[in-house]
Amino acid sequence: MSTNLSNFHVPRHALLRNKLTRIRRRDTDSATFRRVLAEIGAILCSESLRDLPEMQGAIETPVTRMDAPMLAGPEPCLVAVLRAGLGLLDGARMVLPDAPVGHLGLVRDEATLIASEYVVRLPKDLARRGALVLDPMLATGGSAVQAIHRVKQAGAKVVRFACVVAAPEGVAALQAAHPDVAILAAALDERLNEHGYIVPGLGDAGDRCFGTE
Ligand code: URA
Repeated sequence: MSTNLSNFHVPRHALLRNKLTRIRRRDTDSATFRRVLAEIGAILCSESLRDLPEMQGAIETPVTRMDAPMLAGPEPCLVAVLRAGLGLLDGARMVLPDAPVGHLGLVRDEATLIASEYVVRLPKDLARRGALVLDPMLATGGSAVQAIHRVKQAGAKVVRFACVVAAPEGVAALQAAHPDVAILAAALDERLNEHGYIVPGLGDAGDRCFGTE
C-alpha cells in the first residue's frame, strides 16, 4: 500500500528514531517505556507545531532592547486520546506548559475494531487555539478519525495529529476523513495484522505504558 505524503510527515530525527527503537523492544520495561514515550511526546509536539504563526515583538534583554520572534496566538490545546495518548502528554506539556488539555476516552472493540467513547472533556477555547491530538498508534484510523471529528465539532478549526507509529491503512483512513489535518508520525510501519495490531509496531501502547499486559 503506497502512502500519500501530502499531509503526512515523518521527521528525519536520529534521537526520535533511537527512542522509538527503545520502546519497540519487547524487553523494555513499563517504567522505561513510559519515560521514553514522554520524551517522544516532547519531540513530536515540537515537530508538529514548528510552523505555528509567529510575530515580532519588542523585548528587553539584560543588555539591550530588541525585536524578537514570538507566537502570534495562544498555544494550541493538547488533546490526549485515552489511554495511550496520556503517555505522550507529559512530554508534550513540557513543550507547551500553558496549553489547556482535553481528554477523549475511546475504547476499541477487539472483535470489530470499532472505537466507542467513554469520556469527552474538551477545553472551551478550541476555536481560538486549534488542537494537537495525541495518540501513539495510528492503526485502522478509527479512533483518530472519531477523535478529530469530536475536536472539530467542539470548535477547532486548525487540527494536527501526532502519533508514534502509523500503519498505511490508518494514514489513508485519516487522510480520507480529514484531508485538512496535518499528520506527524515517528515512523510509518508495514501493515496491520489480523488482530488490528501494527506490524512491526510496539504492541499495545496503553498496556505497555500502564503495566496492564
Ligand atoms: N493500538 C495499539 O496499542 N497497538 C497497535 O499495534 C494497534 C493499536
